[in-house]
Amino acid sequence: RETYADAVKPSVCPFCGVGCQTEVSVKGNDIIKVDGRQGPANRGKLCVKGRFGMDYVMSPERLTRPLIRRSDVPKDAHARMTFSDISDVFREASWEEAMALAAGGFNTVRDRDGGHAIAGFGSAKGTNEEAYLFQKYIRQGFGTNNVDHCTRLCHASSVAALMEGVGSGAVSAPFTAADDSDCIMVIGARPEQNHPVAATYLKQAAKRGANLMVFDPRRQGLMRHATHPVVFKPGTDVPMLNAMIHTIIFEKLYDIQYIQANTEGFEALKEKVKDFSPEAMAEMCGVEAEYLRELARTFARSSKSIIFWGMGISQHVHGTDNARCLIALSLITGQIGRPGTGLHPLRGQNNVQGASDAGLIPMVYPNYKSVEDPDIRGKYEDAWGRSLDPAKGLTVVEIMGEVEAGNIKAMYVQGENPAMSDPDQNHARKALATLEHLVVQDIFLTETAWFADVILPASAQPEKPGTYTNSNRQVQLALPVRQPPGEARQDWEIMVDMARRSGLDWNYSGVGEVYTEMAAHMSSLDNISWNRLEREGMVCYPAKTEDGPGEEIIFYSGFPTESGRAKLVPTDLVPPDELPDDAFPMVLTTGRMLEHWHTGAMTRRATHLNAQESEAVVSMHPKDIGRRGLTRGQQVVVETRRGEVTLTLRADRDVTQGMLFIPFCFVEAPANFLTNPQLDPFGKIPEFKFSAARIRSA
Ligand code: SF4
Repeated sequence: RETYADAVKPSVCPFCGVGCQTEVSVKGNDIIKVDGRQGPANRGKLCVKGRFGMDYVMSPERLTRPLIRRSDVPKDAHARMTFSDISDVFREASWEEAMALAAGGFNTVRDRDGGHAIAGFGSAKGTNEEAYLFQKYIRQGFGTNNVDHCTRLCHASSVAALMEGVGSGAVSAPFTAADDSDCIMVIGARPEQNHPVAATYLKQAAKRGANLMVFDPRRQGLMRHATHPVVFKPGTDVPMLNAMIHTIIFEKLYDIQYIQANTEGFEALKEKVKDFSPEAMAEMCGVEAEYLRELARTFARSSKSIIFWGMGISQHVHGTDNARCLIALSLITGQIGRPGTGLHPLRGQNNVQGASDAGLIPMVYPNYKSVEDPDIRGKYEDAWGRSLDPAKGLTVVEIMGEVEAGNIKAMYVQGENPAMSDPDQNHARKALATLEHLVVQDIFLTETAWFADVILPASAQPEKPGTYTNSNRQVQLALPVRQPPGEARQDWEIMVDMARRSGLDWNYSGVGEVYTEMAAHMSSLDNISWNRLEREGMVCYPAKTEDGPGEEIIFYSGFPTESGRAKLVPTDLVPPDELPDDAFPMVLTTGRMLEHWHTGAMTRRATHLNAQESEAVVSMHPKDIGRRGLTRGQQVVVETRRGEVTLTLRADRDVTQGMLFIPFCFVEAPANFLTNPQLDPFGKIPEFKFSAARIRSA
């Protein structure tokens, strides 16, 4: 390898929340090879995305100069978006002209309409420092808390339930804790596709004899390794999990000593689940009563049980209730706070944990401190020298609604792609097209950037320094391994420039100084200095001392709640917002695939990955295909009450009869033209996982 490469440099994978450490072979400015390092999360392993997906950074479609929309080109919500059309819509500009227009547009709206007419979407793919600066710019510069990011679309409901239940939104144990577990429950997650290296620990545990319970409305590869595969009806998580809780309580399998010492609300939970016997819930869930009892007994009787969950839990109108059930399962059995036990919502993007911790959320400052608390707000007002908004800001989907209503007139979007990721795209794209001023800062001309007034070319992850916090709470420092192309700039430098042009006195000598300011506001980063990260590369938070290892397992003794106890929250039946009917008889669910990451902005431009999965597909059970007189491989139209897309029909026995599955990465057939924007009332997350749909030949 060394013969070919000019250098081999340490880095971190930019894709998923596993946070694999990499070593990147570079020749000139090209990445020619990526290997796994012995990081705490990956132990030398990488998946196909980390190993073969990095050539997106060398794509000829990278943005290299600032772009300004041509004044005679209207924003058309349904415009064909191909890279070759770029010069018809935008003209190249100098950084000076583009920045003056970008910041000037926000200043005009602020001075004319007030700061609440402005909103920002930051990024879960950027660094912690970028997330901190982005929320600070929106809050300090415009006096509004209208700042959010894609956590709203993935684990907002999990975080709402965790904050309420155990006082912390992060995982209680890393996925490597599976090494010590006797029973592993995976629900609403497909780690083989979305967290492949984490999946290896689950398979290894099953191999050495641990019980592996895999719950999913679609069959999946991990079920081949499972002792207990559970295919249940979509949208029935609460009745199924409450039936397990019922079994544990009424068969007296709970840990009374743990409950009495550490929790509150047990009697109310017991009363609520009385009516949720497995026998009463079995038909609704599509799982036999005796099997539900066996699952509950296995989880409760194992000496060390752990729960992993994903967006199959969180992306429902009852997403917070789903997570509340999982928390209750863990607490009543005392399966938390010890090695091999715990709660782990598998984080999607590489830095969704860190971006959330850094305050890229409309309700909270860094470290989840409420914007409505006058004492906390006062501290930030003193530190930042401005009066700040005393009310919670709007969330992602709410912001789009207010844009459409004409109340939000300007948006700053850094490294996010709402024109692909938001539900009900007909509305989301119309909203983007009505904005008076849209600034997009990104590495590609994303579908969102087509609606922009100004596009600022930014740096890809291997081109900039900064910290990322993975699903395991491990804060990792990554340094640049190549130069950004053309005139593209570092994101943090762009934001500092924007802030100065909006009248803020920002003077940072480098990313380290930003980190140090951020860490001073975040007790979670106590004892994790920039110098220490430069020395050690990774430290897990919380860290009790300046040189000791961080705590991978938390909640050994008590919880960071007001009472020091965890809260058991009873849940009720809440049906999906839109049930199938005669007109729309099927259930559509959306998600990711192994080869493509989220909206596909990076992986559709990664040669090898896109070669594997290059075509927009809808997956359907072969019996459903035959029953409807369709043929696999043909073009079909999938339709919901919000829109339709045309794609190729794929036969897939893993998809339960009556269901359709579409990945949301294909711009040719955006799945989110179809999805339901109805929100979970607590986490404000849309119901991506359940829409009534129909299918026909194209
Ligand atoms: Fe990257 Fe995630 Fe794959 Fe690891 S598991 S190589 S972090 S995409």
